[in-house]
Amino acid sequence: MANKKQSSASSFSSNVDRMVDHAFSILNLDAGTAQAIKACDSVLQVKFPVKIRGEIQTFTGWRAVHSTHRLPAKGGIRFAAYSDQDEVEALAALMTYKCALVDVPFGGSKGALHIDPSQYSRDEMQLITRRYTLELVRKGFLNPATNVPAPDVGTGQREMAWIADTYKHLNPEDINYQACVTGKPVQQGGIRGRVEATGRGVQYAIREFFRHPRDLTAANLSAGLAGKRVIVQGLGNVGYHAAKFLQEEDDVKITAIIEYDGVISNENGLNVEEVYRFKIEHGSFKEFPGGTFSPDNKGALEMECDILIPAALERQISKENASRIQAKLIVEAANGPITFDADKILRDKGIVIMPDVYVNAGGVTVSYFEWIRNLSHIRFGRMERRYDELRGNEYATLLEEATGSKLSASTRSMIVRGASELDLVRSGLDDTMRNAYQEMHETLHSNDKIADLRTAAFVIAIRKISRSYLDVGIY
Ligand code: NAD
Repeated sequence: MANKKQSSASSFSSNVDRMVDHAFSILNLDAGTAQAIKACDSVLQVKFPVKIRGEIQTFTGWRAVHSTHRLPAKGGIRFAAYSDQDEVEALAALMTYKCALVDVPFGGSKGALHIDPSQYSRDEMQLITRRYTLELVRKGFLNPATNVPAPDVGTGQREMAWIADTYKHLNPEDINYQACVTGKPVQQGGIRGRVEATGRGVQYAIREFFRHPRDLTAANLSAGLAGKRVIVQGLGNVGYHAAKFLQEEDDVKITAIIEYDGVISNENGLNVEEVYRFKIEHGSFKEFPGGTFSPDNKGALEMECDILIPAALERQISKENASRIQAKLIVEAANGPITFDADKILRDKGIVIMPDVYVNAGGVTVSYFEWIRNLSHIRFGRMERRYDELRGNEYATLLEEATGSKLSASTRSMIVRGASELDLVRSGLDDTMRNAYQEMHETLHSNDKIADLRTAAFVIAIRKISRSYLDVGIY
């Protein structure tokens, strides 16, 4: 049932709970604090009517707030026909740990609308999104200070713009209205680099992994990303950008791309941009001329490769198929693609897993930058860019005078160039992904009880969250 909370041991939230419990047991946290951290603070379920093509349809949606130890609570909104309350709660919990891990000062939240967007026109989607927003605002689940959504599966800039505009009309006196949601179009208060931020973060995460020889050895991988064979599941926002950047900038070979209707593969490497354009144009890459198509998308996860990047849905690798996975490194770009039981099977096989709470944190990191931009009402770099250029020109001239030789035009412009907003966003994202990985790496290798990066990530996150409980107490 789509709108009932599941409670089985295999549910998404129980998988997250079991991973968190493992970290609690290592930290020796008292049961009360552990329970307070784990509990989902509040869940809103809404049912609202919308008149579509002359008939009234009732839609079901949720917004869960897992933690408010930092405000606002932050997390995407998903539009999907498979959404349910259990999934929303699990995703909200992951947001709490993710934000703590990468030092983004937010609590965790998540929302979903039970809908198949492909069944509705643009205008109908606008009506439905605005109506859902109204419910969230009225019930105190959307506000720049307390609860700030972002895009997730089935939503993007378009939906975020509708949400921001609806909030603005309901709260015209709120000077910070743009900060009520992130992932907006740039002309509506969004930030450059947010659309691709999660995929970009996946790239930075993998690059950082490859800077650690000890971790490469554990994964049985040779040094250097170039030439590595990579399979990506899901050619949506996250999967497309991650695959594109890795192929174009790091020279990896994307040997297979898996989608809902099958897999396209080519041992010599696929051109991601061409596959993506083909899929947009034809609705599927079935007939794509640059690779071989097979409808067996589930089996494709088991194909041999160096790096497997699940970037589509949760629970794709379970105890049913884990023993057949052949990748050396799994990079969890999606939320929860590996179940708790599968995680153990994979690790026993010697496969290294980079966990979702770290890997896909690029989205919320750049959302944090967007939120700050909205609250400060100014684009990053606007004040200092030309000043930096002026200083750069002076340094370049001094350098020429000191050396007695003229700089080439390209060297001069490299020295002179002031940072744009996109430069700053990328720098902040790269720094965040590197720091978080280094913390995980240190934690993993300094504690005998910690055997994997996921546990290291949860231990770091829970330590930070429990610190905040200890500092301010329970109110
Ligand atoms: P999306 O809707 O843009 O893309 C999902 C893709 O997966 C689509 O192309 C879809 O066709 C494909 N897909 C659906 N079922 C599939 C199947 N059975 N096998 C293979 N592919 C399938 O969503 P997204 O925003 O890219 O999100 C993907 C994952 O990343 C989700 O787990 C999401 O929670 C997570 N995530 C997204 C963001 C973000 O900024 N968008 C941030 C953090 C985490």
